[in-house]
Amino acid sequence: MKKFISTVVLVVFFIMPVINSFAQKTPQTGAGEAKAGNLTGVSYTLKNGYAEVLIKLDKVSDYRMLRLPAPDRIVIDIYNTIAPYSQQTINVNSRFIQKIRYAQFENGMARVVLDVPEQYECKINKRGNNLLVYIGNINSIKDQVSEGEQDTIPSGPSSDGDRSELSDRGNEDRGGKLLDIKHAKKGGTDEVTVFVENYRKCNVMRLSNPDRIVVDFYGTTLDKYNGEQRINIDTKLIKSIRYAQFEKDIARVVIDTKVFSQYSIDEKQGKVIVIVGEPLDKNITYHNTSDRVYLRIAGAKLTNGDKDLQKLYTEKYDSSGEKYTITFPDNLANLNSGVININDGMIKSVEISKNASDATTSITFNAKDKFNYLVFTRADTNEAIITILRPAKGAEKLVVIDAGHGGFKTGAIYENLHEKDLTLDIALRLRDLLKGKGIRTYMIREDDSHVDNYERAYIANKLNASLFLSVHINAMDDKSIGGTMTLYCPNRVSNGKFTGKDFAAIIQSELLKTLNTTDRKVVERPNLVVLKYTAMPAAIAEVAFITNSSDREKLVKGEFRQKAAEALCKATIESLKKVG
Ligand SMILES: [Zn+2]
Repeated sequence: MKKFISTVVLVVFFIMPVINSFAQKTPQTGAGEAKAGNLTGVSYTLKNGYAEVLIKLDKVSDYRMLRLPAPDRIVIDIYNTIAPYSQQTINVNSRFIQKIRYAQFENGMARVVLDVPEQYECKINKRGNNLLVYIGNINSIKDQVSEGEQDTIPSGPSSDGDRSELSDRGNEDRGGKLLDIKHAKKGGTDEVTVFVENYRKCNVMRLSNPDRIVVDFYGTTLDKYNGEQRINIDTKLIKSIRYAQFEKDIARVVIDTKVFSQYSIDEKQGKVIVIVGEPLDKNITYHNTSDRVYLRIAGAKLTNGDKDLQKLYTEKYDSSGEKYTITFPDNLANLNSGVININDGMIKSVEISKNASDATTSITFNAKDKFNYLVFTRADTNEAIITILRPAKGAEKLVVIDAGHGGFKTGAIYENLHEKDLTLDIALRLRDLLKGKGIRTYMIREDDSHVDNYERAYIANKLNASLFLSVHINAMDDKSIGGTMTLYCPNRVSNGKFTGKDFAAIIQSELLKTLNTTDRKVVERPNLVVLKYTAMPAAIAEVAFITNSSDREKLVKGEFRQKAAEALCKATIESLKKVG
């Protein structure tokens, strides 16, 4: 109990200065804003007596570190920095750290969370652009860490001096209080009014899958806090409203919408009104809860389709590079004009405008950085998909992980076992392992969704990826055939002298070493789309045969799939050392 009290005191102590610095440090969206840096990866090293977590940044950025209780965690917020939009998780399961999670937290801020078994001492240090966090026995850390620019959060009981400073700050800086939430229907819109005493600032963003509007109130606590609260609404536009204390200093209100609703906010004295309206256009949806962030336009044709990227539109970036516009004849996609507010880690808003004089439509992405865009038309599902991509820059290495098949393309099937589920499972395990080594990855899919094969290859190209690793499970009419095989496309030299064939050979060797499966060799396949159309060394690992009973017995075991992922991780790391 004593420990708990001291932790709470420390939390409050470290939160208070944070609120003050927040307003100054949070980047504004106006002109002249410094270009955001990127969080390119997080890795860890376990040492004797402590753990070291390296947060890789391509630019020096301001940061804050705070501890939060129940469950115990250490939070590092990095300002003006872009991180993966979907949460990345590294399972550590060590004495000092259980898990490392990181993601874009809000407009321009990256958040790294270290889940810790208890509140050990910790320190943070700048090393070049990067941040180094030490957790564990402070004395053993002291030997390693040179005194310099570092913040220390002691875990022991705080002194009386700290307590008096705390109460002084508390008097000056009264926190906000979320008092009540009311819902009303106004014509064709729904209004959600959030009453807040001492209102400071909020951030509204849109999340997909399922569609929801998230409003975070900074420096605000819930008046009465009893876990997550839910108000069922069930109008045409809104399912429910949920609210909870999201972090110690952030109250979060989530509006679960039934459709891809428009939203706007109206900030008034003592209240914030969120106005939820009909979707701008029923054919448009935006998806941002995985690596693949994209705008989908049903019934649109913006390129010739599939393999053929022939543009039926013109494109341009503005002088800052942050605004990207495509323009096409109205008849290629019949859309309503207006602005869709997004405000996630990449995109502020998407604007659709029509030019009556030449019967054209423009779609403008108001982005937070200069991104690459893949405009792709899927002929089979009659839709255009515009994927927003943050390419690898300079010496940065990026690995595209492709879980074979997905959605209505199940791949090989044996009874109720689907190839698409096995490939996704191995791919996700591989992603976690590579992230644990601090390697930037991009998942073609993270759930059971359909992505065209040409689209997969073109995404990797637009990302400027170093390697493309596709995970598949083999099948054969002859059920006696089992084993491991790796495929590559011949005569494709790229990234210096390291080829897809070299990559395939390393993968095959690591898989055989780890899995003890039959060697079905490295096989040349000149016409497989993801191998033929990728511009970097690419390979398909056919881990085992779903049609072979002995292989299948292994495939259904998580332990085997983990081993496969470990072998693929090793092969990837070895190959990354060799790519140019
Ligand atoms: Zn397959």
